[in-house]
Amino acid sequence: MEHLPYRLAEDFDRDLGDPRDAAGSFSFARCLEFDEKEEFPDEICRGLEKWGLSSYYVPTRHGGRLSDYEQLLQLMRSVARRDLTVAVGHGKTYLGAVCAWVAGEPGQARRVGEAVMSGVPVSLALTERAHGSDLLAGEVQGHPAGDGRGGRIVSGEKWLINNATRGEMLSVLTRTDPGGGPRGFSMLLVDKRKLAEGTYRHLPKVRTHGIRGADISGIVLDGAHVPDEALIGTEGGGIETVLKALQLTRTMCAALSLGAADHGLSLAADFVEERELYGRRLVELPQARRVLAEAAADVLLHEALAVVASRAVHTLTGELSLTAAVTKYLLPSGTEDVLAALTRLLGARAFLKGVHAGGMFQKVERDHRIVGLFDGNTLVNLNSLVSQFRSLARCYRRGTGDAAGASAAYDLSVPLPEMDPAALSLVARRGSGVLATLQDSAAELARQAAENPARAEAAAAAERLLAVAGRLHNDMAEAPQPVGDVPPAAFETARRYTLCYAAAAVL
Ligand SMILES: Cc1cc2nc3c(=O)[nH]c(=O)nc-3n(C[C@H](O)[C@H](O)[C@H](O)COP(=O)(O)OP(=O)(O)OC[C@H]3O[C@@H](n4cnc5c(N)ncnc54)[C@H](O)[C@@H]3O)c2cc1C
Repeated sequence: MEHLPYRLAEDFDRDLGDPRDAAGSFSFARCLEFDEKEEFPDEICRGLEKWGLSSYYVPTRHGGRLSDYEQLLQLMRSVARRDLTVAVGHGKTYLGAVCAWVAGEPGQARRVGEAVMSGVPVSLALTERAHGSDLLAGEVQGHPAGDGRGGRIVSGEKWLINNATRGEMLSVLTRTDPGGGPRGFSMLLVDKRKLAEGTYRHLPKVRTHGIRGADISGIVLDGAHVPDEALIGTEGGGIETVLKALQLTRTMCAALSLGAADHGLSLAADFVEERELYGRRLVELPQARRVLAEAAADVLLHEALAVVASRAVHTLTGELSLTAAVTKYLLPSGTEDVLAALTRLLGARAFLKGVHAGGMFQKVERDHRIVGLFDGNTLVNLNSLVSQFRSLARCYRRGTGDAAGASAAYDLSVPLPEMDPAALSLVARRGSGVLATLQDSAAELARQAAENPARAEAAAAAERLLAVAGRLHNDMAEAPQPVGDVPPAAFETARRYTLCYAAAAVL
C-alpha cells in the first residue's frame, strides 16, 4: 500500500520481526510469557524506543516526528496487533505528555518532548479512588507553596494510574481552588526525579484480568514541592486542558481497538482454515464464513472511521469534541462485539489455554476490555454528545459545519495541515462537517447509480441513511435539555448519532 501512514507502519512492523517467530524479541510467545508472569514487557518497550516510536508522540514543532495523526494511528495499531499490554504500557507516554502539547508554553513543551524522546515514561494522573469519572470531585491539592520558594505543594492520592510507578514524570490534575468548580483545577507536571525524598510514595500494582503485565498502580504525593514551571497552561485551566487533551487521546484509542480486532480476526481466520469437521474444513461451512465476513466488514467500517477521525484531528480540529466521542464509543464497543462473535466461532479453542495459537485469543479478548473503560468510558462519551444535541440539530438543519474540513479528511491524497492545538474547542460551535457532507455524498452516489446499476444498492442505502439522519436530528432537537441527570433515552439517541456519523464518514 503506497499511502504513507500504511507504508510507515509496514516498515515498522517488518523491523519488529516476525511475531510468529517465538524466539523474536516482540513475538506473540514472548507477550504470552509476560502476561502469564504478570510482568511488565520492559525489553519489548526498549526495542520500541530504539526504533524511535517515542519521537512520533512528540509534535514536530516541539522537536519530534508527529506531523500526521494518521501515521501515529497506524504505528500504534501495529503495536496493538502484537500485544495490547505493550501498546498501553508504551503508548501511555503520549497520554502523559499531551497536556503539554495542548496548553504548555513552548519551552515547557520542548523540555517534555526531549524527555519523551530520551525514553522517559510519562503518565497521566486524573483518576482518584473515590471519584472515577467525576473529575470535578478530585481532591488532590496543588496549593501555592507560600514560603518564599514559589511553586506549589501537591498532596493527595491518584489511583489506578497506568505507569504511576514506572513513570518518571506525571501530568497531575490538582485542585487549586478549594471551592473546586470548572475553573478550580490546574494541571501540574510533576517530575518525580526532582521531588524531595519522602514527599511521594507508590501504591502497589493492582492485579488485573487483562493487560496483566501493565503497571496499573497509584501514587501518594505528600507535601511534594513543584516549581512554578510545573504549571501546564493557566491556573484554573486544568479541566479545559484535560478535556481538550482527551479529544486527542480518545481518537487515538482507535488504534488499540483496531489492533486487537486485526489480531482476533487473524487468529479466527487461521482457525477456520485449519479446523476439520464433518469431512471438510470449517471455512467451507457457510455459517462460519458468514461470521468471519461480518466481523471483517465491521473492522473495515471501524478502520474507515478511524482513518477519517485521525485526519480530522488536522482538518476538523474544532469539531473534535464530536469525532473523539463517536470514535471512543464506536470502536471499543464495536470491537467488543466483533471479538464476542469470534469467540463463538472459535468455540472451545477460545477458552482453552495453549491449544490454538498458545491460547492467544482469550488474551486479546481480555486485554481489549480495558479500551472501553479507560480514558472516558462508553457512557461518558455518549453523555458528552447529549450536551450538544440542540445545537447539533440546529446546525444540521442549517447545513453548517466544516464540510470542506470533512472532505479533506476523506481524501487521502490531500496533505494534512499541521494540527493547531489552539483550534481545539470544547464544543463543535457550527455543528458537524461530517454530517453536513451527507446530502452531497448521497446525491453523488445517486448520480453514479444512474450511470452504473452496480451502484444502485449503495445509492438506495444512502437514501435510507439520509432519512434516518433526518429523523435522528428531529429527535435530538426535541430531546429535553438535561440540567442534571441525563434520561436513558438520550443515551440511545446519542448511540444512533454515532452510527449516523460513522455512516456519513464511510459514505
Ligand atoms: C487498567 C486501568 C488503567 C487506568 N489508567 C489510568 C490512567 O493512566 N490515568 C488515569 O487518570 N486513570 C486511569 N484509569 C482510571 C479510569 O480512567 C477510570 O476507571 C475511568 O475513568 C472510570 O472510572 P471508574 O471505572 O471508577 O468508573 P466510575 O466513574 O465509578 O463509573 C462507574 C459506572 O458508572 C457509570 N457512569 C459513569 N459516568 C457516567 C455518566 N456520565 N453517565 C452515565 N453513566 C455513567 C458507568 O457505567 C460506569 O462504568 C485506569 C483504569 C484502569 C482499569
